[in-house]
Amino acid sequence: MKRFDAIKSIVEELTDELVVCNLGYPCRELFAIKDSPTHFYMLGSMGLASSIGLGLALALPKRKIIVLDGDGSLLMNLGSFATIANQNPSNLVLVVLDNEAHGSTGFQPTATGGLTDLERVAKGAGIANSITVKNKKNLKNSLKKALRDKQMHLIVVKIEKGNANVPHVNLSPIEIKNRFINEIKKSK
Ligand SMILES: [Mg+2]
Repeated sequence: MKRFDAIKSIVEELTDELVVCNLGYPCRELFAIKDSPTHFYMLGSMGLASSIGLGLALALPKRKIIVLDGDGSLLMNLGSFATIANQNPSNLVLVVLDNEAHGSTGFQPTATGGLTDLERVAKGAGIANSITVKNKKNLKNSLKKALRDKQMHLIVVKIEKGNANVPHVNLSPIEIKNRFINEIKKSK
């Protein structure tokens, strides 16, 4: 499964959820598949998608928050698993698109291509609902369950190396922020 197809499968299941998307090609691919004011495209702050998602989930308990993170970014901020597990926000779904490489900077290998298993790390940190999926059918089924459920879920999606040929996000950081804040205001 390519990352583009994984993100497309995820987007097909979403309605009004708030989406925090990891920087680089994941943002570009999400933007090309579908743009929405509910999308927070990260243009920097590598490693912090899951932390931003946690903050949103705690502040907005009535909204479902979806984080699209990457293996390289999450590995920079592994402590986030322990914080998220202990906060245990029922409205957070953390998706890790794991290509075992830093895909936006030339596919330098990451630890998940070696011995590190993010599902097992998450379970050890205390995130009980952690699963690894390797095809679109299992991704869709796991995501549907996570969206229905009133518990925190982690889905590690094993994907192929490769980036889609898509343009940059054609929005300024201010535009991304302001329209996302307007979406948040609708929650209250
Ligand atoms: Mg990666």
